[in-house]
Amino acid sequence: MTPNEFAATIRSIPDYPKPGILFRDITTLLGDPRAFRRAVDELVQPFAGAKIAKVAGIEARGFILGGAVAHQLSAGFVPIRKKGKLPHQTVRMAYALEYGQDEIEMHVDAVTRGEQVLLVDDLVATGGTAVGAVQLLRECGAQVVAACFVVDLPDLGGVAKLEALGVPVRSLVSFP
Ligand code: 5GP
Repeated sequence: MTPNEFAATIRSIPDYPKPGILFRDITTLLGDPRAFRRAVDELVQPFAGAKIAKVAGIEARGFILGGAVAHQLSAGFVPIRKKGKLPHQTVRMAYALEYGQDEIEMHVDAVTRGEQVLLVDDLVATGGTAVGAVQLLRECGAQVVAACFVVDLPDLGGVAKLEALGVPVRSLVSFP
């Protein structure tokens, strides 16, 4: 599918979650059997044969895509969650929000030193969340091979931040 065809399956909701924000709702893409399959296939395509040990998905929509990507690559899956949700011992990383900060967590034994990990989320905006996830994975010794998103919002600078950290970025649709 072309970027325009993917874009046509994504719903845009004005003023959500607050006035002035145009929210890109990928639940409509997920609900479209062809678009969901093609999105997962195209996210995976550059990494077929790349010996990815784990896919790390960011709560919550990154779990849906990341689980399917992990299955396709015969890789394990690692959930990266908002703080307080994981039952075992965790490592935690603060990350920047538009105003203020929050924290994400991962189980301390979710990756082992030197493992090749692919990071997956539905969308990258400012990059705060994905950069926090990269730092968390690297702190535990993982090698972050790339970060994959269905959508990127290039004007918000997240892709540039990830690339500056040495993380290649793959996305299927850009909304300028
Ligand atoms: P960032 O940290 O890059 O500013 O924001 C990205 C995170 O917020 C991702 O986890 C993503 O799911 C969520 N997010 C921010 N804006 C949107 C949006 O317009 N649509 C969707 N689906 N998620 C968003």
